[in-house]
Amino acid sequence: MDVPYWLQESSTARPETTFEGRADVAIVGAGVTGCAAARRLAEAGVRVRVHDARGIAEGASGRNGGFALGGGAARYDVARETYGADRAASYWGWTREALDRLADLAGDALTRPGSYRLAGDEEEREGIRLEYEALREDGFEAEWLDDVPGGAAGRFHGAILHPHDGSIQPARFVRGLASLAAAAGAEIREHDRVEDVDALDADRVLLATDGYGHGLVPELADLIWPTRGQVIASEPLDRVLYDRPHYARQGFDYWQQLPDGRILLGGFRDTSILDELTDVEETTEAIQTSLEAFLHELAGAPVQVTHRWAGIFGLTQDMLPLVGPVPGHDGRVWVAGGYSGHGNVLGFACGELVADAILGRESPQLELLDPARFS
Ligand SMILES: Cc1cc2nc3c(=O)[nH]c(=O)nc-3n(C[C@H](O)[C@H](O)[C@H](O)COP(=O)(O)OP(=O)(O)OC[C@H]3O[C@@H](n4cnc5c(N)ncnc54)[C@H](O)[C@@H]3O)c2cc1C
Repeated sequence: MDVPYWLQESSTARPETTFEGRADVAIVGAGVTGCAAARRLAEAGVRVRVHDARGIAEGASGRNGGFALGGGAARYDVARETYGADRAASYWGWTREALDRLADLAGDALTRPGSYRLAGDEEEREGIRLEYEALREDGFEAEWLDDVPGGAAGRFHGAILHPHDGSIQPARFVRGLASLAAAAGAEIREHDRVEDVDALDADRVLLATDGYGHGLVPELADLIWPTRGQVIASEPLDRVLYDRPHYARQGFDYWQQLPDGRILLGGFRDTSILDELTDVEETTEAIQTSLEAFLHELAGAPVQVTHRWAGIFGLTQDMLPLVGPVPGHDGRVWVAGGYSGHGNVLGFACGELVADAILGRESPQLELLDPARFS
């Protein structure tokens, strides 16, 4: 019951790559970020060693909602005001390109049915209407719907259809990335917890721990806040009610129906928001009860819950990830994390971005995401 639905799928064999001696780059974390970075670095000829306290994708990368969304964690119109119009447009475009690259690698781990961003009330409708207009002004594909078809029909106050978005089996995707990284020469050490980054035998260290690395380096403790998310999955239903990922109430509630007919539902973090600012990976009765009640509404009848789990993600103050050198470590320690609950695509994009930065390659996103912006 506590094993995430995604992680129940058995993993396929990957090349067992090992090497002796010092690494050029040690990566802490074998989720989407760490595996994307490892692949990029190894393909460039860098000696990479990945360490994870658990197995590949057993952190948030195998415990999430399976939404593969373009864009950032903030609303696009708000992002334009906060980061500047040009930077927001460039960032959004960059995430969409990353989703297309991810699709090229993902095989059957990704489908692209689009997603519905739903308004839970009139106030939210005004907000997402502004987002829709801003997206259209800047040339991003988006459609406005006053109502949506399927199980959500008549229940919400308008929606944006994002036709570019997808649904991902995140564990399958990340395990595939790990295989590509290993095939390119990366060594991946599972069940190998790093206690002290200074003790790692490597010229550089990349922290790819998102919400799980709290306390590993003190400089990040106030910048990436561990936050818990909880999810349930139902028994398979015999009819399709939701043909693409749906999310509502500022993204606090999210659900999709999986290919085998199950509804996977996460959220309600806002009902006990302070309790959920934690890295304790366990479900709570209060949120599970709320999720279950909403699941029955979504299904239109009581349905059995077959899976319940929790995961931890990293939240940042400005809803933008941190990618680059960690201040105070003379360029030895780097970070890519803090996706504020949107790491399936952003983690992939930022894993590649930080690898490129380590390789000395420039990108306009590096200035926006520089961890030193909070110094
Ligand atoms: C419930 C939930 C739902 C979500 N839904 C979505 C969604 O639908 N769409 C979306 O885009 N994003 C979603 N997210 C966010 C997304 O899952 C994460 O942002 C993303 O997976 C982060 O990937 P990562 O590789 O950076 O970190 P993780 O996948 O969390 O991996 C970090 C790894 O670091 C390891 N680690 C930590 N400390 C150490 C140490 N000291 N030594 C060795 N290893 C260590 C951990 O074991 C872990 O495997 C969700 C998150 C949660 C929790």
